[in-house]
Order: sequence, then C-alpha cells, then structure tokens
Amino acid sequence: MNRKIEIILSPHTGYCFGVKRAMRLINQGLADQPDTKIYTLGDIIHNPQAVERLRESGVEPVGSLDEIEKGSILVIRAHGVQPELIEEARARGIHLLDTTCPFVQRSQNYVRKLTGESYRVIIIGDGEHPEVKSIAGHAGDGAIIIDNPDDAGNVPPLEKAGVVIQTTFSKERAHKIIAVLEERVEHLRVYDTICQATVLRREATLDLSRDVDLMLVVGGKKSSNTKRLYQMCLEAGIRAHFVETADEIDPAWFHECDKIGLTTGTSTPEWVIDRVLERMEEISRGGEQTAP
Ligand code: SF4
Repeated sequence: MNRKIEIILSPHTGYCFGVKRAMRLINQGLADQPDTKIYTLGDIIHNPQAVERLRESGVEPVGSLDEIEKGSILVIRAHGVQPELIEEARARGIHLLDTTCPFVQRSQNYVRKLTGESYRVIIIGDGEHPEVKSIAGHAGDGAIIIDNPDDAGNVPPLEKAGVVIQTTFSKERAHKIIAVLEERVEHLRVYDTICQATVLRREATLDLSRDVDLMLVVGGKKSSNTKRLYQMCLEAGIRAHFVETADEIDPAWFHECDKIGLTTGTSTPEWVIDRVLERMEEISRGGEQTAP
C-alpha cells in the first residue's frame, strides 16, 4: 500500500476516569510501599497488556486470598468486590487498596439503600461480570439479575423493587427491560447508573463511523465495553475490526480505504493506542504488505 490513509481518532479513547484513578492509586501504592507485595484478585482491568505491565512493576494477579500472605496489599479493582471478600481479607491481616470506581460505589450504595428499605433489588446487567457480582454482593437476600426483556417477563410479580444498571450496559436495552418490569412491579424505583463515559464513547464512535470507510476498535478481548463498541458498529452496518494489539492488524483490511476511524474501550492503555497508530501509519506508507 503506498497511498496515504487518513486515520481519525475518536475524541473519547484510552482509559476512562475510573481506570485512570485505579492506575494512579496503584502506582501511588507501589511508590509509597516499595517493600510490600501488592496483589490483585484476577485481572485488575480487562486488558492483558496493562495487566502484564503492572505485573512487571510488582503487582501480581492471583486466583484466591489463599495465595496472599498476611501483611501484603490487595487491590480492590475498579469493578469492586463483594463485601464478604473485604471482610475475609481484613480477617486474614491483608491490607486493602480500594480502587472501586466511584460510579460503581454509587450503585453499591443504591443497592444497600434499597435493601434497607425492603425493596427487592433488580440488577440489569451480565451476571458473570465482576461489577455485577460486586453490586449483587451488597443486596442482602439476593438480587435478581437480568440482561434481556424476556427474562424481565419472567420476574415474579413484586410489590416493591428497585433497579440499578451495570455501568457499561446499553441504554436502549435497559429501557426495554425497564418497560417490561414496570408491568410486573407495583412500585418500581429506577436508578440510572449507566456511566456517561461509556455513553459518550459510544456516541462518539457512531458519529465517527459515519465519516470513515472502516472502524478499528482497540481493546481487551474480554472487555465488555470494547466488545459493545465493536458490536454496535456491526449492528449499524459499519465495516469494523476488533484488535487487542497492533500485531493483530491485517494490512489487507485497509485496501480501498481512504479514511479509517479508531476507537477504544475504557481499559485500553495509551501506549497500545500509540503502537496501533504507528502500525497504521507504517501500513499507509507502504511499509508492510501482510500481517506478521
Ligand atoms: S467505565 Fe465508568 S464506571 Fe466503569 S470504571 Fe470507567 S468511569 Fe468507572
């Protein structure tokens, strides 16, 4: 390829507020306590490159509290965790570095408030997602978790229920689910806890996609908000590819493209984006003809 391709970056890329804050707190923890081991339960964010870089700095992901020695530090990730896990860690003499995003904390607070007022808690979201699990952990007797209107139709008739929504959930889909719930619950209280960072990112991605020949979506393959950006492009009939790193880009995608839009998930590091931009520039200049 030897013609210049215009690459347009979405105005909303890279880490969101919550992930930036989590990274800042971890780096501060590393600087303040250089001799104390720091662990995360599972991956701190859904981006393997960022997790690997943190591991190189001394932040070790582990599978359970049993792998964490007394006196060391456990990072509570931006998605939050169940309160029982915090109690258990404290009981074992493990120090906590809480990076739970304030927007997730807000959902946790609503759930506790609803439970305190004897409302049944309904969480709209993916029951397998760590954020939803963390919020459900704050809901006393157990929350109902649903992610589609059909499941909402199976919710038993309730007198009082309150809804919170996974921060990265689709607004349109949440509205459809709430419309069904309104038929099943006499007093339904709804807290719109969808994070604006993800809403703005989706809107900016769709706006950009209308002006380009192809969208490149960059982020962790397990990142739900990145996957949603990609799906949203496909559903809108836009040509799109989803990559985690620059190495996954196939130059053949860009044949006959004059303009390419680039968007990213909220957990995609700047250095990954920079490398993707560099590789796209190389391809555009004719430096590469095939994928490595
Ligand atoms: S997407 Fe929103 S809720 Fe999630 S970590 Fe980022 S700022 Fe917080």
